[in-house]
Amino acid sequence: MSEPLQSPGPRSGGGQTVERDQLPTLPHRGRATVPAVSVRGLSKSFDRGRVTALDLESLTVDLGEFVSITGPSGCGKSTLLHLLAALDRPSSGSVQVFGQDLRRLPSPTRYRRTEVGIVFQLQNLIPQLTARENVEIAMFGTGLRRGERRERATQLLADVGLVEQADRPPTRLSGGERQRVAIARALANSPRLLLADEPTGSLDADSIERFLALLERLRRQQPELTVVMVTHDEQVAAVADRVISMQSVADSPTPG
Ligand code: ADP
Ligand code: MG
Repeated sequence: MSEPLQSPGPRSGGGQTVERDQLPTLPHRGRATVPAVSVRGLSKSFDRGRVTALDLESLTVDLGEFVSITGPSGCGKSTLLHLLAALDRPSSGSVQVFGQDLRRLPSPTRYRRTEVGIVFQLQNLIPQLTARENVEIAMFGTGLRRGERRERATQLLADVGLVEQADRPPTRLSGGERQRVAIARALANSPRLLLADEPTGSLDADSIERFLALLERLRRQQPELTVVMVTHDEQVAAVADRVISMQSVADSPTPG
């Protein structure tokens, strides 16, 4: 099922809105009622407002939901993921993730390290390090000891089918293998929110299959894992709970 993103869909209608004063203040944040992602009136522009990269009325993603996002090139998909990852700040509007307003994060770095896992379109692996070390560095500063980090990185690489390749640098891996290292790295700190930007773009059919099996296993083990994935892959979209199609910014109605 495809649902346009610019207009409020059934999930994002008024009935689902959590009033600000209803938000629980307890440490648990009332996970049962607060959605994983809640976006309102979000826009992002660049070049002093000359380029509108994203204009999104609303988006709600439930805890444990797997949403896949499609849309034409340039419609703002990557921009949206960057905002959800607190890698960038909105020009206007709000983004809440697990009930936290991302504008008020005490430490965006800590948020990225502990709450989200990100698989970028370009994998950003460090060429001087081995596959295992690329996964290990995601766990720096988390309190895990060196041996534990190493062991976990090895296990994650095994999970994505890269036992043999663990000691190779990215330059000696295929595109698909590099993408799987990036996926292992994104999962290193057991994120509650997994953001992925066309993660299967460079994978062959076998690797896509393996990736989807891994994702399915993760979601079984961790029912609250929320996944927001930009993808044009029909195989991936078919296993998502919901497919959202974004429109290009120029096509969306201009407010006012
Ligand atoms: P998508 O991922 O859907 O292809 P993007 O989110 O990457 O689209 O970009 C949306 C639009 O914003 C594009 O027109 C792009 O050129 C523009 N854009 C993205 N990032 C920047 C930036 N840092 N500076 C200027 N324009 C940008
Ligand atoms: Mg993109």
